[in-house]
Amino acid sequence: MSDTPAIQLVGLRKSFGAGEHEVVAVDSVDLTIDDGEFFSLLGPSGSGKTTVLRMIAGFELPTAGAILLQGHDVTRQAPYDRDVNTVFQDYALFPHMTVLENIEYGLKVKKVGRHERRRRAAEMLDSVRLGNYGHRKPSQLSGGQRQRVALARALVNRPKVLLLDEPLGALDLKLREEMQVELKAIQREVGITFVFVTHDQGEALSMSNRIAVFNLGRIEQVGTPREIYDHPETSFVAGFVGTSNVLSAALSHELMGVAGVHSVRPERIRVVQEHTAESEVTVAGVVTDVQYLGADSRIRVELADGSPLLANVPSDGLVGVAIGGPIRLAWSRFAAFAVADTVPLHDIHEHDIHEHDIPQQHQQHDIIHSQGGDQ
Ligand code: ATP
Repeated sequence: MSDTPAIQLVGLRKSFGAGEHEVVAVDSVDLTIDDGEFFSLLGPSGSGKTTVLRMIAGFELPTAGAILLQGHDVTRQAPYDRDVNTVFQDYALFPHMTVLENIEYGLKVKKVGRHERRRRAAEMLDSVRLGNYGHRKPSQLSGGQRQRVALARALVNRPKVLLLDEPLGALDLKLREEMQVELKAIQREVGITFVFVTHDQGEALSMSNRIAVFNLGRIEQVGTPREIYDHPETSFVAGFVGTSNVLSAALSHELMGVAGVHSVRPERIRVVQEHTAESEVTVAGVVTDVQYLGADSRIRVELADGSPLLANVPSDGLVGVAIGGPIRLAWSRFAAFAVADTVPLHDIHEHDIHEHDIPQQHQQHDIIHSQGGDQ
């Protein structure tokens, strides 16, 4: 592994069209991706992730800024001169060729000898666990198998960087979850830098070393999955990655005596009977809904000022909780984080969440954006 970053994006910008029709797809993006990282670009539809990926691949020229691969400026280089390969969502396999021929194709173009070609293709097929499928045609494979062939084809000439554009998007939920595990294992095995575009936060959290969260063409936060989930820096990130309560500045001040907008994860909130320790924040409200989810239940509460609050609590702690009844909730002061207020999050609902794409446990993209006073 090299100390030189695999990819550096410097002040990257891309706009399409001109004048009043100008669309700024990517704006002021600065990003460093290390050698050997599994790095995800996460964001809602239209946030600029694919455009960034296409610029790294060389399919799109930046309007401004620079792209460096292994320290070399490739901004103006043609795609085939860059040491990167791309796996697209639709796989783009050659239907008339066998699986092995598909994988060999890139090596043939590079004039690698016949025996060497076959050997490397067979080896790659083994790494994607399809050793016995080399003679089949793509039409004789399942979606997940085709996806793995596409991966093998992209990896066989050992690019320094592999770009993956929603590669699991077309798979059903179960296969997708299996492929997430496999993809990560394959990446670890081959040690190649993966840049993975997805709008599915669960996918990004479970696979990545680090994630960049995109909103409206800009990066709102870069961090490890844990950093992003536990310490979202903006209200957009808090709501897009998992579910969050975003407390307005007025409510944060009233409840916690702190300045600015704060976020609290629903799973950090408990049901309590009375005031608890000094280090905790307690608040009273009325239960508006209880959703039973098995081990846990999700309680929606309305606070005195009309703000909603969401709590995820163990179902066996629900005694005495009833819709329309009073409730008291508490959370540790350490569970609340100041966030920059970047939302409007209702937009996310409108143009991003495709329910069939998202695993059940991640269909909770709602943000509870409290209205307490000053918004
Ligand atoms: P998705 O997940 O839906 O692919 P994305 O985050 O990858 O979304 P991009 O495809 O990068 O988003 O698009 C960013 C913005 O740029 C969008 O508003 C899109 O409509 C616009 N855009 C992308 N390509 C073009 C183009 N060739 N001409 C005009 N506008 C474009």
